[in-house]
Amino acid sequence: MYNLPYTNKQINIPYLLKIGNGKIRKIGKYLFDKNLLKAALFLGEGTEELVGSELFAGLTAQRIEVLHKEVIADISIEAITRTAFHLPAETSVIVGIGGGKALDFAKYAANLLRLPFISVPTSTSNDGFCSPTSSLTVEGKRKTVKSGIPFGVVIDLDVISGCPHVFFYSGLGDMVSKITALRDWKEAFNRGLERYNDFASMLAYNSLDLLFIKHSYDISSPEFQRSLTTSLLMSGIAMEVAGTSRPASGSEHLISHALDEVSKAPKMHGLQVGTATYLCARLQNNNSAESVGEILSRTGFFDFVRQNPFDKNEFIEAVRLAPSVKPGYYTILSEPDSFERAVGLIEHDDILKELVK
Ligand SMILES: [Zn+2]
Repeated sequence: MYNLPYTNKQINIPYLLKIGNGKIRKIGKYLFDKNLLKAALFLGEGTEELVGSELFAGLTAQRIEVLHKEVIADISIEAITRTAFHLPAETSVIVGIGGGKALDFAKYAANLLRLPFISVPTSTSNDGFCSPTSSLTVEGKRKTVKSGIPFGVVIDLDVISGCPHVFFYSGLGDMVSKITALRDWKEAFNRGLERYNDFASMLAYNSLDLLFIKHSYDISSPEFQRSLTTSLLMSGIAMEVAGTSRPASGSEHLISHALDEVSKAPKMHGLQVGTATYLCARLQNNNSAESVGEILSRTGFFDFVRQNPFDKNEFIEAVRLAPSVKPGYYTILSEPDSFERAVGLIEHDDILKELVK
């Protein structure tokens, strides 16, 4: 891709962006205001029990017609395609409400049908709720496929705040990964292997600043939760601007993808990514390695992972396999001495030896 000529490009952004308290009930009004009156709803498992009464009260009050409603468990590309092309022709908007799966499903279906997609995450455990990709299964294997940035993002902080702590730690781990991802991207560019995008990089760095500068380190506090949510959202937009996942995904994500393959019981995405970020920041001799350590320590991320550490054999195997996850994708792990140095850190670094046992 990097040898195509440079041009300005069209960038999609969410036109509807609502983050605050009591937002689930207002979804009906937001749809009405945009003249999106006939909806298909895709819900996560347990989501209707959690937010159904508020959601449907709001939809009914604005006379939004729900033409299709489905709880999502299967995110195979075949299931999505089948469902998408069976939706009533007059459907004017697709709304996904839930954790990862319902959003990935709905985003991809909307992209297939070229319909506006409203993303309503009920947790912020990763940046997928506002990214231009969907994580689906293709022939039984988890794949990240190109999709589209949501037309709208509605985040009800009352709902988010009720999530167990693991979701915030996961979101934080996914967020700090920008530090290593951005460095990997720059180094790939310096080697002539990748095109760099200054604006996307600035967005991603600024989204980190929100977390590092403005919050209180208390993951239960509303300020932290709002900062994390906004940061993750900006990270998704940075990918859209860059036209690649580079600003949000580097060596640390390769390790996480490899862990998904080799682990008997993979952990939540951001727990894997956050731990790998700490390791990769050290490998990169990244100036921000100390800041990564500090935020993950002060928020309690390390303590949380320490309670249920990674299996050392699995983790080392994942580091070994990581460069082969995306062949030709330069990261710090492409360097010939990185594997050996990583094993040394896993064995001897005071923090890592507690997280990986
Ligand atoms: Zn991620």
